[in-house]
Amino acid sequence: MDLVALAAVQAIDTALDQARHARPRLAEVLEHQAAERELAVVRGQLADIRRRQDDAQRELDTVEASSAEIDANRSRLERQMKTIISPREAEALQHEMQTLAARRNELDDRGLELLEASSAADEEIAQLSQVEARAAEAEARAAERRAAAEADADARIAEMVAHRDAAASAVANTDLVAYDRHRAASGGVAVASITHGKCSGCHMEISKSEQDAIKRLPAEQVAECPSCGRWLVR
Ligand SMILES: [Zn+2]
Repeated sequence: MDLVALAAVQAIDTALDQARHARPRLAEVLEHQAAERELAVVRGQLADIRRRQDDAQRELDTVEASSAEIDANRSRLERQMKTIISPREAEALQHEMQTLAARRNELDDRGLELLEASSAADEEIAQLSQVEARAAEAEARAAERRAAAEADADARIAEMVAHRDAAASAVANTDLVAYDRHRAASGGVAVASITHGKCSGCHMEISKSEQDAIKRLPAEQVAECPSCGRWLVR
């Protein structure tokens, strides 16, 4: 097994793993996601106010309909009043009219409250709409920056994949298959080296006698780290 050639593949694979891991965590991606969240918050606030506005408008419609009904009743009672002679009946009618007038006043007050709330909400909507416009602009700009950064990252990844293919073409197919399997089982690193007396894969020390034993292995035999089992380039 040509471990030197495999180590070249491994170096590119490690860089590829890092680039693929970094892509969804690019600063531009995170910034765009934050801008999207900000925009969603403002839009949520606007939707809340508009919903309250709709509720108020519906209540106002009810208030106006009830007021119109009371006005009609009052006119009817006033006409009735002109035809009544008995004082007791007149008193009863008067009482009824007073009750209606009181209810009409309550409705007027409530109507006024609703109108005031509605105009306050209109102002809030106007202000928030400006905030929303700014947030939407910021989101669109962030989206452009994100797309550019992602395109850059994709181009770099494509370049690395081409290098990987070139490096892999120097390795026998059966060795590549074994390498891929070993890499998957070893957290992405199948081929390591001894650096400053340690395995570069697991960072465990490899004793002098272990290193000597590795050196004495026949050339065709693959050396493995005694701690993690990764293949060691000699
Ligand atoms: Zn190791």
